[in-house]
Amino acid sequence: MASKKMSKCSVCGGNKKWGKYAFKKELKSGICPTCWNKLFSVSSIARADIAEHFSNEQMKHLTDRDMELIASKMGDSYSAGEYWDDLVECVEHILKLE
Ligand SMILES: [Zn+2]
Repeated sequence: MASKKMSKCSVCGGNKKWGKYAFKKELKSGICPTCWNKLFSVSSIARADIAEHFSNEQMKHLTDRDMELIASKMGDSYSAGEYWDDLVECVEHILKLE
């Protein structure tokens, strides 16, 4: 018998070698490294989201580069604050609904 771990992913159903570098938790969860590390967007912003707080003149000065910077800074402050506590609470809520 092969000694390498072969397992079916509980998320994607993929049945491939998980490799020796997979974290223990991934293997125990039955979720493959690809699904384990798949990214989902938390938030995004548009000019429309901030327009009510600024004048049209101010809005005209916001370039796409500025918007990217704002999004990036908001991402930083979001993940620095209550983010991780909120995240756990949110996941617990969703799990209860299922
Ligand atoms: Zn998978």
